[in-house]
Formats: sequence, structure tokens, C-alpha cells
Amino acid sequence: MPAADAATTLLTVDGLSKQFSVAGTWPWQRRRLSAVNDISFSIAPGETLSLVGESGCGKSTAGRMLVGLTAPSSGRILFEGRDIATLSSRERRALHRHVQLIFQDPYGSLNPRMTVGELIAEPALVFGLADRHSVAARVSELLGLVGLADRHADRYPHEFSGGQRQRIGIARALAVEPRLIVCDEPVSALDVSVQAQIVNLLRSLQDRFGLSYLFISHGLSVVRHLSHRVAVMYLGNIVEIGPKGAIFARPAHPYTQALLAAAPVARPGARRSRAVLAGDMPSPLNPPSGCRFHPRCPFAVERCQREVPALTPGDDGRSVACHRWRELAAAPAEAPTLRHAPRTARLLALYRSAAAASGSRIGIN
Ligand code: SF4
Repeated sequence: MPAADAATTLLTVDGLSKQFSVAGTWPWQRRRLSAVNDISFSIAPGETLSLVGESGCGKSTAGRMLVGLTAPSSGRILFEGRDIATLSSRERRALHRHVQLIFQDPYGSLNPRMTVGELIAEPALVFGLADRHSVAARVSELLGLVGLADRHADRYPHEFSGGQRQRIGIARALAVEPRLIVCDEPVSALDVSVQAQIVNLLRSLQDRFGLSYLFISHGLSVVRHLSHRVAVMYLGNIVEIGPKGAIFARPAHPYTQALLAAAPVARPGARRSRAVLAGDMPSPLNPPSGCRFHPRCPFAVERCQREVPALTPGDDGRSVACHRWRELAAAPAEAPTLRHAPRTARLLALYRSAAAASGSRIGIN
């Protein structure tokens, strides 16, 4: 399994931030919305990094910056070591061929007046990867790669199901032979069985072509089967990043713990223990002081309200932005009666005791 390091990095994001200016209470007022706040990560060739967090945490804005749809306010994006801000327009156009985006709802990005064949042929022709003589064969090849048939080339997007449209979107992205695909919630609008098919398709394409993915998702359960590493975002910040195995086995940040405890239990008949975060994410227009998670965190102490926690590395490849994560990781083992789901149950017990001690900040199901 690949791991990102300086020698093998395809993409590096360094201190990336994005602020939007939005209308205030009065027409003449403008307010600053900090959507992404100083995030850094890297992706190796053939690697999947999942960016996970609730709606509004800034993960889609981060993805849009990587594909050039949104300009960063500050920070750097390096592709194969080259800062894309320093590239000429011709070089940047070539770069955008290598970094493609798959949308949650591909229907919105597919011209309804074009046939599927035309939609897939268009990017290959635009980037000179096929000509009018070879493009039909290329379209046929791409349809086959995503599990569609040649007969589908003459149909229109509205004639397809959600899963098939996502396959068309993937074929369109593959048409320009990308190195990295930003997958923005590509399966969240699909049925569970179709989700699995699309995730399996993405995995097989990765194995075949060595693709890298930035996989954006609001839940941890989907990313489990696709990720090599996971980055958890909260209110514009990365609060935990590390290898998938470490994150799922021992989530360290209280927010990661809550996300994981809230994920559906896959085993039929298994008890569905859930620790549900109370309240909504605070507005990025007026983020909390100190640790941005402190109003919802059952483990918050006075220091959390005044001091921003830095991402600090652990000894298993992860980094965590929490003042208390080492202390919480050393919490006592679970009671024997909770052995059916040790980690989740232990967390649930921690949440219960914390909720009892601190009032109604957190709800337990
Ligand atoms: Fe909770 Fe404090 Fe850690 Fe933030 S720094 S996650 S408030 S314990």
C-alpha cells in the first residue's frame, strides 16, 4: 500500500486556506467566511486520501481548489513538486488534464443535449488524445472500462440511472488520462448496493491505471473500503490525518471518534451503538475561539477555549489536533460486558460519563 513521502508525492497541499466575502446583515456590510483554514496534506501515486467531515466543513472547497475551480486565498498546491501558481497558462491547462473532478450528481455536469458518446469523446478531442478517426474506438474502450456497452453511446444522460450516470462521469474523467481524480461525494446520492459497485469500479481503475484519488465524503463508512489514508475535517481544519488502519482501529480525536461511532454497523444483527454529536457545526462566519470543536466536545477543558491545538504527530503515522488526545488514548480499557464492540462501546461509555458530568452537550443513542 503506498504511503506519501517526499520522494513519491504526486500532489502536495501546503497551508491552503480559502476565505469568502459574504453579505452581512446590511447591504453595505461584508463578512469574511473562512471555509478552509491552513490545511496541508500530500497524495502519492496510486494512493487514495479520503477527506471526511460534516456538510460545511470545507472539504468540497478544498477539492475545488485542487482542480482549479476555486482560487486559494493563501497556501500552495504543488503537482509533482511544481507550484501550480507559477505555471504558464499552457502548463496549467496540461495540469488540469491530469487532475479531474467527479461530482456527486454527474447529471448536473452532463450536457443533456449531447449523447453519451459525444460527452465522452469531447474531452479526448479537446486535449488531442484522440482524433475524429480514432475517437469512436476510444469511446468504446472507455465505456467498457466503466462497465457500459457500446449501445449506450447513442443515448442521452436522462435515459440512465444515477449509478450509470456516475459511470459516464468517470468515463469522461478517464478520457483525458488523469493522474489524480477528486471524487466529491461520488456515491452519497446512490443506493447502498450501487455505492458498492461504484467504489469497486474506482478501486479496479486505480489498480489498473495507478490513479490517485482525493475521495471526499461526509461519512467514514464509505471511505473504509477505498482509502489508504484518511483526513478528518472540522470547520475548515484538518483535526486528524493518518493511515486508514490506525484511524479506524483507534480514532484519536474526539470528533473522529464521534464520526466513527455514528457510522452504520455493517454486521447484520449487530447492536447499533451510536454516540451522536449534539447540535450543528458552528457557523464559519463566527467560529469558536481556541479549538473549534470545543462547544460540542465532551472532553473540553478551559484550555480548549483559548488555545488552538496544533496537529501533533503520533508514533503510528497519524497527526491529531487536540490538547488531550494522548491522555484520552490512554483511557482505561472497556468493561468486559461491552466486549461485543470494544472500541465503540468504550467510546460510548466515555461519552456517557462525560455527558453526565458536563450537562447536555452530547446526546447518546
Ligand atoms: Fe475536545 Fe479540547 Fe481536544 Fe478540542 S482540544 S477536541 S475541545 S479535548
